[in-house]
Amino acid sequence: MKLRVNWFKNLTKFGCKLDSSSLRVRLTVGMAFFSAIGLGSLAVWTGMRMQQILVVTHKENIKYIAERFPQDVKIYTEMATLSVATQKAIDNLATEDKLLWVKTNSGKVTALAAALEKEAIGSTLLPLNNVPPIPQIRDLNGSYWLMCATPLEVDNVYLGNLFIAQDITKDQVMFLNLMRSLSIATFIVIGVMTFAIAYYINHLIKPLKRISQLTEKVSADKLSEAHIHLENAPSEVRELADTFDEMIVRLSEAWEHQRQLLSNVSHELRTPLTIISGYLQSTLRRGQNLTEMQREALSTASSEADRTVQLLQDLLDLARADSGRMHFQLEPIILNDLLKELVEMTKQYSERQIQIELPNQLIQIKADANRLKQVLLNLIDNAVKYSDEGKPVTIKIEQEQHQTIIHVSDRGMGIPLQQQGRIFERFYRVDEARNRSGGTGLGLSIVKTLVEGMGGSISVRSQMGKGTTFTVIFPSLF
Ligand code: ADP
Repeated sequence: MKLRVNWFKNLTKFGCKLDSSSLRVRLTVGMAFFSAIGLGSLAVWTGMRMQQILVVTHKENIKYIAERFPQDVKIYTEMATLSVATQKAIDNLATEDKLLWVKTNSGKVTALAAALEKEAIGSTLLPLNNVPPIPQIRDLNGSYWLMCATPLEVDNVYLGNLFIAQDITKDQVMFLNLMRSLSIATFIVIGVMTFAIAYYINHLIKPLKRISQLTEKVSADKLSEAHIHLENAPSEVRELADTFDEMIVRLSEAWEHQRQLLSNVSHELRTPLTIISGYLQSTLRRGQNLTEMQREALSTASSEADRTVQLLQDLLDLARADSGRMHFQLEPIILNDLLKELVEMTKQYSERQIQIELPNQLIQIKADANRLKQVLLNLIDNAVKYSDEGKPVTIKIEQEQHQTIIHVSDRGMGIPLQQQGRIFERFYRVDEARNRSGGTGLGLSIVKTLVEGMGGSISVRSQMGKGTTFTVIFPSLF
């Protein structure tokens, strides 16, 4: 049992998980099949040839006796009667394993070899009829006989049929044993060859597996690092790897170009839009004689300009993160102070009650203060956006052995379970109905990028109708 388990483990170690559609299995099965057909045909052909060689001399001998027998009888008739001459000719030609007898059409045996008088042989051979004129092998109760029967005519007198039987049991048994050994050897060779072929093919397609392992790791932001180096691979596979490398270079250039364009466009648009927003706000502040309609139009334009500036800022941040140009000034921060500062900041644009639950001691983490503020403001902003007025938003800090955990919770509408895994994707928004409050679907992907850039992690837990908690974890500072 243990041996079987080990054997199976070895198979899987070779990468032999039997996937019937894999190139390895198909090649192995195909090559093993054709080898089996080749070896099998060779074995069958060898067997047939061997039997032919064994039988052919006996056949020639029997044919010769059948041809010469009438002449022998004729010679003896000069000294004796026809029936005595026939018996004499038989005695002369018969041996222990070569038997002759003459049988009339009515089934009467008129002359026979002495050995046929023995009960065992006589009762088996003499009653036989329908024996062909060309010698053929007959299996008679485990003994093999090469037999033929030809009409016997001497001086135009028909004497009946001459039967000749040659005992070839020894030769035939030897031949059958040989055939059995040949079949076993063929099966063993086919088995060994199948294993050898499987091993060889496995070795041969290793470079292909290596290519797929390397390509699995390629992602948009690591395009420039993706190169496939294959040593000792077949030239076709090396060619494939080179083509792949060239494609990656082209993709990397196109990706870089797109990133650069996005970054430039965002940058170029952000400045004039910020100026427009500033003018709109100052017009709103100072325009004492504006009508209600003008005021409303200007304030809509101002908030849309702000939203677009925010979107451009988000795009710029993501472009920076993608190109590895986002730098973090990581330094020890006292989280208690930072949170209090944040709550003061949020009071300026929201009347929502923000509750903070802090442990008594000071908590320090290593992070970029501005980026961490950006993260928490984003989460607080979402919590406010996606919960009803009057429902508080809570920020809770916990400290465990090796990590500091920040929970930002609301008692809002929640996020459906099947969407929770996707909300950190770029431009992903749960549904339009809940997004009346604006937003671009970029906020959480930036939050994730920033948190991970500072060495932390973020996750979400949410229940529909009950609320959502975002959990940010940083390693503790000791
Ligand atoms: P948006 O700009 O749309 O807020 P985000 O990336 O910040 O983009 O959020 C992605 C989506 O996740 C949002 O569209 C919203 O549907 C959902 N979401 C985010 N935070 C919350 C929350 N606190 N409660 C409910 N849904 C949320």
